[in-house]
Amino acid sequence: MNSIFWINFSYIIAAVLFALGLKMMGAPASARKGNALSAIAMLIAVIATLLTQGLSYHWIILGVVIGSVLGTMAARMVAMTAMPEMVALLNGSGGLASLLVGWIAYDMEPGAPLFTTISVYLSVLIGGVTFTGSVVAWGKLSEKISSKPFLYKGQKIVNSLIVAAILLLGLLYCLDPVAQYSAFLMIILLSLILGVLAVIPIGGADMPVVISLLNSYSGLAACAAGFVIQNNILIVAGALVGASGIILTQIMCKAMNRSLANVLFSGFGSVTQQQSSAGAQGEVRSLSVEDAFYLLEAAQSVVFVPGYGLAVAQAQHVVQELAQILERNGAEVRFAIHPVAGRMPGHMNVLLAEANVPYDQLFEMDAINPLMESIDVAVVIGANDVVNPAARNTKDSPIYGMPIINVDKAKTVIVLKRSMATGFAGIQNELFFYENTRMLFGDAKATIQTLIAEFKN
Ligand code: NDP
Repeated sequence: MNSIFWINFSYIIAAVLFALGLKMMGAPASARKGNALSAIAMLIAVIATLLTQGLSYHWIILGVVIGSVLGTMAARMVAMTAMPEMVALLNGSGGLASLLVGWIAYDMEPGAPLFTTISVYLSVLIGGVTFTGSVVAWGKLSEKISSKPFLYKGQKIVNSLIVAAILLLGLLYCLDPVAQYSAFLMIILLSLILGVLAVIPIGGADMPVVISLLNSYSGLAACAAGFVIQNNILIVAGALVGASGIILTQIMCKAMNRSLANVLFSGFGSVTQQQSSAGAQGEVRSLSVEDAFYLLEAAQSVVFVPGYGLAVAQAQHVVQELAQILERNGAEVRFAIHPVAGRMPGHMNVLLAEANVPYDQLFEMDAINPLMESIDVAVVIGANDVVNPAARNTKDSPIYGMPIINVDKAKTVIVLKRSMATGFAGIQNELFFYENTRMLFGDAKATIQTLIAEFKN
């Protein structure tokens, strides 16, 4: 048996481990093991690939050194709150890599068989869209560019014309790749432009869908690149990322009660301030930490609802400590997790797992909402959009129709945030003006630390 047999055999083992790892990542209790299993699979895949004959190791080593330096620097410098932006950039890098693989493959063998030519076309097309689309998503998430939808007259026509041109040029290129170098370059250019134009009309509140969709695209681009260089594990891994990204996209769409077409083409979120603030009027009642302590001390049931502000404040460990104190005090404690809370899919699960919050205390939105009326105190920690009742009540709100965690149905709601500032969708929250809501202003971590001190006293 030759080395190709053993390489492909290792690839099969790696593929099985990838699939098992993905399955295990579907539940919080097994997610860490799933991650470790997938990392082992990747190690097997990399070692097997490095054993392929005819590789130029000096280039590979150079790439590994540059990649490791950049990766280590990024991992050290990026703040935890900037992880979603980092994920967007990593998706984009995957797209760029696939584009470059396709481009180099074309340069090395312009007259490749039709199947490879089509793979090269898909690799540069999907890779190009993923790259620039992810850069725009990064800009929106980091607020380097406005997260509002960018709309102009005739937008859909322009986008449709670009898609038609890419398809037509693709046909010309596939029919005669050797003679159509300029068509090939135009495909790359138009794909890069399409990535920008496809993401700019999508508004802030829809970014979860965009992130998961771009994640899926980066997998599909890698899959196409796998066909270009005929690497089986790249095909399998790319297909797995592509498929799981699509499933995640569906989950995100469901979490926002929107269809994918509606997210991509409706320019959702383009509201005027007047519309977006409707319903959010009246008196705001704030309370002191001491009053919050008395409320929590008397509560029999407490639900914590974390949001992006929990990540900003890095309050996951202190909230876990407070939860333990409340449990010892006789209260039933739960954590309610909205699928789009935070800035990336699974953001809150990751933070709460880091703080070792028991899995049986984690409740998904559909599980917690029916219980909400029986809850004594709902503590909203840096969440805003995902608890905004405008999603149920205000028809012209940009988040109308999005299922929310119905904290307003609890007997008392305590909202921990620093000011009356809006959340990611840029709209004021009706909840803050409700009779049963009390605002506890301040940094979430500092506030919870003071609450803990009150309990300890
Ligand atoms: P929001 O972005 O709606 O609100 C976060 C709130 O946290 C702000 O109102 C802010 O108020 C508060 N906050 C910030 N820092 C602190 C701090 N140190 N202490 C206390 N509070 C703080 O968060 P949600 O999680 O409710 O909603 C997520 C939003 O992000 C949704 O619109 C979602 O669509 C979007 N999104 C989600 C993604 C995902 O995949 N999950 C990806 C991209 C976007 P203040 O400044 O007054 O403190």
